[in-house]
Amino acid sequence: MTKKIVFTVDVDRDVAWHKIGSHEGVTKHSSEGEAFFDASHAGLRRLLEILKDERVPATFFFEGETARQIDARERKKNKGRKNAGLASLIPFECEVAAHGYRHEDFTGSLTGVIIPRAQKKTILKKTKAELEKIFPQRRIEGFRAPYLNYDDELLALLGETGFTYDSSAYSKSPVVEKKGVGGKGRQGIYEVPLTEAADAAGKRMVSYLWPLMEGSRSAADYEAFAFRALAHNDFVVFATHSWHSHASIEGVRPESEVELKLGTVQRLIQSFKEIAEFATAREIAFTKTRK
Ligand SMILES: [Zn+2]
Repeated sequence: MTKKIVFTVDVDRDVAWHKIGSHEGVTKHSSEGEAFFDASHAGLRRLLEILKDERVPATFFFEGETARQIDARERKKNKGRKNAGLASLIPFECEVAAHGYRHEDFTGSLTGVIIPRAQKKTILKKTKAELEKIFPQRRIEGFRAPYLNYDDELLALLGETGFTYDSSAYSKSPVVEKKGVGGKGRQGIYEVPLTEAADAAGKRMVSYLWPLMEGSRSAADYEAFAFRALAHNDFVVFATHSWHSHASIEGVRPESEVELKLGTVQRLIQSFKEIAEFATAREIAFTKTRK
């Protein structure tokens, strides 16, 4: 199999953060625990331009509410136009997948709130239904848990609600495996894991671009990471957030910083193109499971 890079984007509320005592996520820099969507919307639009320029596909893990907010904003802006919504923004080569409805902490490990099983199932169904309404031409098959907080119960519920793969785990030697099986009628779900590996100095590094976007790692670190990981594996799943070019954990970014961050992401994608082909997470799940 040709070596593959899977570029994934979590499209969630701006600087999605947990709140103790509530299972729903908030924007870190909101004063009253609200959720904002401006950076996520603006960042998504710019990222789509980069992907179009570079002719590479991505997998978007959309939070239900964020997708609804962006869709409404697009429709308002393009009033009267045909194909005015969010669906028309996402190229067909890209994949649309799910990331909770309101950025729920499904295990409660950050918020201290345990969501009952039946409620989790309702949230997953609602997320899928919302995305299928916004993207009527798409099959929503993939899921990534907010904060990557997943457990066997969540994986079983994903299988029960019609998802076919999850991408919330880290692996040092990523392969596609069936998880969440066991128990009557539980068909389980395939895992397409993110990658973890040591950096040049032997320190743990993961395939989320968070440290790059927050300034604590360089693009060269990620280029070396991809090169090393692909020497031993068939694929690497990278991940970033749509808002991260326009906001950081410090708050909304100044315009000059936005352009710098977008430039860094574009150059990184260009260097990935030199060492592998791009694929969606669903393609990886299917290629690996068909054999
Ligand atoms: Zn998230």
